Amino acid sequence: MEQLPFYRGGICRIIAKKQKAIFREMRDNTMQDPIYDQGSRLIFHVDVNSAFLSWSALKALEEDPSGMDLRTIPSAVGGDVKLRKGVITAKSIPAKEYGIRTGEPVVTALQKCPGLVLVRGDFQTYRMYSKKLIELLKNYSDKLEQVSIDEAYLDMTDAMNEMIKAEKPASGIETVISDQENGIQDDVSMEQTEHLREVRKNEKEIISLAERLKREVREKLGFTVNVGISTNKLLAKMASDREKPDKVHTIFPWEIPDKLWPLPVGELYGCGHATASRLQEMGVRTIGDLALLGRMLLISQLGDSLGAYIYAASMGLGSDEVRTSREDAKSVSNEWTTSVDVDASNFTAEAIPLLHVLAGSVAERLIKDGVYASTIGVVVKTDTFARKSRQTRLRESTNDESLIYQTAEQLLTQLCFGDHGSSGLFDQGAGLRLIGVKAEHLDKGEYRQISLFDYSKSLEEERRRKKKEESLQAMIEKIQLRYGQEAVHLGTGKERDMERGSK
Ligand SMILES: [Mg+2]
Repeated sequence: MEQLPFYRGGICRIIAKKQKAIFREMRDNTMQDPIYDQGSRLIFHVDVNSAFLSWSALKALEEDPSGMDLRTIPSAVGGDVKLRKGVITAKSIPAKEYGIRTGEPVVTALQKCPGLVLVRGDFQTYRMYSKKLIELLKNYSDKLEQVSIDEAYLDMTDAMNEMIKAEKPASGIETVISDQENGIQDDVSMEQTEHLREVRKNEKEIISLAERLKREVREKLGFTVNVGISTNKLLAKMASDREKPDKVHTIFPWEIPDKLWPLPVGELYGCGHATASRLQEMGVRTIGDLALLGRMLLISQLGDSLGAYIYAASMGLGSDEVRTSREDAKSVSNEWTTSVDVDASNFTAEAIPLLHVLAGSVAERLIKDGVYASTIGVVVKTDTFARKSRQTRLRESTNDESLIYQTAEQLLTQLCFGDHGSSGLFDQGAGLRLIGVKAEHLDKGEYRQISLFDYSKSLEEERRRKKKEESLQAMIEKIQLRYGQEAVHLGTGKERDMERGSK
């Protein structure tokens, strides 16, 4: 592969500098929620190769052991086999050689390869093999997050530590890698530096552990998987997407310049078609170009959440939290202890900016995980340590920051100031010590009707904004009646700073 000189010399220093800047920015942003990180864990991403086709092939062989193995001939799963309609949902490797793609109509696939063998999807069989796979994987780690019928993340950190202990008695010779070689410097957390050093030292053993896992799946279950290895989920997923089938790949943080940055921008996980073509219009070709472009420029082009995510992803930063399926798809939340007790007098100055930050971080997390929430809630802790919450179900699930913010603001206002005649927390003399925003009932977007939804959303938003303005005005008048003219006014950030400064 052609390499720009940029990718070679001094690259570690560039990464270290960029990393430092990001970590500093994260700290300064008061968003201590470490959503983005190169990771302090060891993560495997296991992905079944052509899952539906492989599983259909196995089922067919089980029923007729003398029959043809679908994996060895041009074959595909999808559509109505008799009517030859519908789309391809999986294809064999020989079918791929004819240029047949997942998602394309059966009709055009048959034009490319008239001898293509089509089989009908069989979800009962797929679920059965999926279960068997997960059971086997659980022997390698109980920290397992199943993300789809044929994909799972495994947190292998404990397994690695045990393996090191078992295979390397205390007297073993150690390879010492200096900080400079690692490209990590003292600004990045010590724990992470230590972890990366340990992973790098044991790279060979880690890869052979993945090879063992891959072999066991093939021998015991009869189908093949790719295993992607890294220190966070993003990089592990990107690694397993490399050459298929039956392969183990790594993209460790120190391999980012060689393995991540030369890839086309459209291959970055979470960068959809629309975003990719927009970036291509800007002259961005590779993931490395994104990293060079910088955070501010990407935010200005793609908006706060997406811009920040795309930039972080281009730097190989992602979550390393493997959520076991019980916790999975439950909720995303963030809460914050307020710097002073919040009451009616400082609600606008203290609670509102905080709510913006919280809604922003929740939206960011939803986007990052590729999920949408249909329930938004707020939670508060009062100065008497009582926890109160309120939530509402949206008409359609969302990951939109402004919608989450607006909903949370409405809920918090109701909770604090009361509504429809019921008294709020402030009426009862309570102050707030903590405020949180929570998004629940997550889905992968399969229930959304995008175009129609977005249209009705803009109408709805306009209505909501008007209503909100009216109710806010009413609320202010209500407070002013009770607490006097000075109690609440709508302030800009500048005025708030001046108020603070004059205290
Ligand atoms: Mg797969």
